[in-house]
Amino acid sequence: MNPIHNSTALFARAQASIPGGVNSPVRAFKSVGGTPLFINKAKGAYLFDEDNNQYIDYIASWGPMILGHAYEPVVKAIQAQAVYSTSYGAPTLLEVKMAELIKSMAPNVDLIRMVSSGTEACMSAVRVARGYTGRNKIIKFEGCYHGHADSFLVKAGSGVATFNIQSVPGVTAGVANDTLTCAYNDLAAVQQLVATNHDEIAAIIVEPVAGNMGCILPKEGFLEGLRQICDDHQIVLIFDEVMTGFRLALGGVQEKLGVNADLVTYGKVIGAGMPVGAFGGKRHIMEVVSPLGNVYQAGTLSGNPVAMIAGYTLLSILKEQPNLLAELDAKSLYLKQGLDEVLKASGTPYVINHLGSMISIHFSEHPVTDFASAAAANNDLFKQFFHAMLKRGIYLPPSAFESWFLNNALSYQDLDNTIAAAKDSLKEIL
Ligand SMILES: *Cc1c(COP(=O)(O)O)cnc(C)c1O
Repeated sequence: MNPIHNSTALFARAQASIPGGVNSPVRAFKSVGGTPLFINKAKGAYLFDEDNNQYIDYIASWGPMILGHAYEPVVKAIQAQAVYSTSYGAPTLLEVKMAELIKSMAPNVDLIRMVSSGTEACMSAVRVARGYTGRNKIIKFEGCYHGHADSFLVKAGSGVATFNIQSVPGVTAGVANDTLTCAYNDLAAVQQLVATNHDEIAAIIVEPVAGNMGCILPKEGFLEGLRQICDDHQIVLIFDEVMTGFRLALGGVQEKLGVNADLVTYGKVIGAGMPVGAFGGKRHIMEVVSPLGNVYQAGTLSGNPVAMIAGYTLLSILKEQPNLLAELDAKSLYLKQGLDEVLKASGTPYVINHLGSMISIHFSEHPVTDFASAAAANNDLFKQFFHAMLKRGIYLPPSAFESWFLNNALSYQDLDNTIAAAKDSLKEIL
């Protein structure tokens, strides 16, 4: 690897004008130390930094680039739309086609509204649940991340966990008090919260496969149990499929694990790298959304034509060629097995959690099933592993509290190189 002079200089320059030098905290490499790389371009499975170093990318823009960077059909579609203007602020055929396409892929989506980020999608879904039920409180799980809206910054995952922020200044106690939390996979704790807040819970929001404390799978019966509790107490069950949607299956976790949500939120893959999110669900609930109902929700750039054509093109291809997700899952399994071998041989305690094309490593002796067990892992060792891998041209998420996202542009040669780099890295750091 060449040194990273240009990234270092750019990071210094950025910090003079942008808080912490970045527009989203995890990018700053703070939890792993060192200088973040400034990316100049990307193609397929590779990132190139401002010093022209090439990396195999395991972030895929945190999910959207599921078929690789600068995927030609998407690029062409964006170029073709741009000449007809980048925004109208009026309805378009494209939005109708996008809604119809999503409905054809996702279970339990009768009506869907497009927004511009996953944060907006989750924030709006909770508002809808509150408007629909007339109740105020929500239950979320420790270590789950649903974007940066006020209600969600209570025991949140992703950067909030990475930076160990306990309570976020700027979020009022009133808002925070309406967000109840319990441990992921702890159904008894949910039952307890519902019992002690009888008729006050509007929604339970959950990452049905969690990806913001590393990758953590729901225990058998957990999602089914949430479904049952929501049915018993007229609570709206919201699946946050911002990460998992169109990735773990065309119909997300609802399809993959066969559990129905009332409302579902999307982001990341849905926009193919453009700023897109969406929330949708069962008709009788979504009918409260303005202008049909009184729950107000709006966006100047919602359903933006350039963003829509990008997402529509990517989703259409995923739908028409189901072999692509199958190929990606096979590659992910291959990587998982290769990593398993080199980690086992290294003798260090570890856990690999994996489902479909989401995967993460925790240096832990114990199973990692919730935030507490993820936080108890040896995250210093993860830091060293991260830098050892980066030095070898492998770009992992810069925190143990993030899932890796594979993309289908990865070749088996890339995966073999990654496994070999892991072997060397472990030798270096242990
Ligand atoms: C990324 C993410 C969000 C937030 O999406 P943004 O587009 O970053 O606002 C919400 N929920 C989950 C599960 C996510 O992974």
